[in-house]
Amino acid sequence: MEKIKMTTPLVEMDGDEMTRILWKMIKDELILPFVDLKTEYYDLGLPNRDKTSDKITVDAANAIKKYGVGVKCATITPNAQRMTEYNLKEMYKSPNGTIRSILDGTVFRTPITIPSIHPAVKFWKKPITIARHAYGDVYKSVEIVADEPGTAKLVFDGESGKHEEVVIQQFKGPGVLQGMHNTEKSIRSFAHSCFQYALSLKQSIWFATKDTISKKYDGRFRAIFEEVFQEYKDRFAEAGIEYFYTLIDDAVARVMRSEGGFIWACKNYDGDVMSDMVSTAFGSLAMMTSVLVSPDGNYEYEAAHGTVTRHYYKYLKGEETSTNPIATIFAWSGAFRKRGELDNLPELVAYADKLEAACLDTLNEGYATKDLVNLMEGITPTMLTSAQFLAEIRKHLEKSL
Ligand code: NAP
Ligand code: MG
Repeated sequence: MEKIKMTTPLVEMDGDEMTRILWKMIKDELILPFVDLKTEYYDLGLPNRDKTSDKITVDAANAIKKYGVGVKCATITPNAQRMTEYNLKEMYKSPNGTIRSILDGTVFRTPITIPSIHPAVKFWKKPITIARHAYGDVYKSVEIVADEPGTAKLVFDGESGKHEEVVIQQFKGPGVLQGMHNTEKSIRSFAHSCFQYALSLKQSIWFATKDTISKKYDGRFRAIFEEVFQEYKDRFAEAGIEYFYTLIDDAVARVMRSEGGFIWACKNYDGDVMSDMVSTAFGSLAMMTSVLVSPDGNYEYEAAHGTVTRHYYKYLKGEETSTNPIATIFAWSGAFRKRGELDNLPELVAYADKLEAACLDTLNEGYATKDLVNLMEGITPTMLTSAQFLAEIRKHLEKSL
């Protein structure tokens, strides 16, 4: 069989620990035999980040800006313990944080669903994608613990000399206060990413804030979304999808009663909390895709989980692990599909579809990794090691190609 051709390279970002092992296995078993793979390779493994003083991460992010599509393996975000473990020069920032700050944009997370794993919410028939705004609010706030009576004020000094001041509270005793912000630019790019992604999935998008209480802060989010939506209105109508705004508490109630199949855009904190609820209710973090979409249309695909350290330490001891490769395979298939669409390569798009179908068929026949075995119902699952599981997927893929 002739290998499937690519024209533009994917930005390939290798990573750490167990996912780095899976990365190579996936390439060897499911990609290289079938695709004439073109990538620009960036090794974001912690040793190379340390060697390059993290320049490699910045270079990778810029390459995504250049080419438009990247695929990333999970990476370690160093903490004090990793400093010693890897003998690091510096406590480098999270690569995802670095890439996000260069590309700007929104993270979309979608559960990968199969019939034998039932969502905890019985009404949910289709996946719900969470779109989390990844900048500001409480994640970039300042706080004070007031330990005596006094006056707390919110002050703004404009560059023009304009001065605004409001009293937050006259404290009669000790209390706490917090100052947080967001920027028009970031909210606007969040809105663009959401509407573009909704169009690319042909799914409706919901957005919710608490603008009845937070009239100015959340009010700005609502107004900016409404304004940006005007640019997309016609394309939404053409695609037969809608933009729906409601209050956050109403959204939560409606989501629970919905059958899914839409995108739920969340402010930063809501997205942090709701994405864990949605992923857990659908099954497992190892069955969750994640893509960063920038407002100017660059895409970075990855798995939603980390480097699965506990399994890696077993692997180092020579044990075969049953680590789930699905989310990492779907990061590759997502990237191939997008590359195929952008470069008008229908064969590459078809390969991506078949790769995902091969994964789902394998799971539907009951072959699964350890994490899924206990979740499956109505089927007697066979637990496989990662290598056996990949070999089973390959058989299905070979048949369909
Ligand atoms: P993790 O790697 O997601 O793993 C936590 C646990 O979840 C694992 O021990 C495992 O449970 C289960 N799990 C996750 N993915 C799995 C898979 N594919 N197959 C089977 N089980 C899976 O989170 P962590 O242990 O908190 O973090 C490890 C490292 O990853 C950290 O250094 C962190 O900085 C990094 N991290 C990176 C990213 C990213 O690059 N996107 C995201 C999160 C964390 P059992 O052990 O019970 O089997
Ligand atoms: Mg969280």
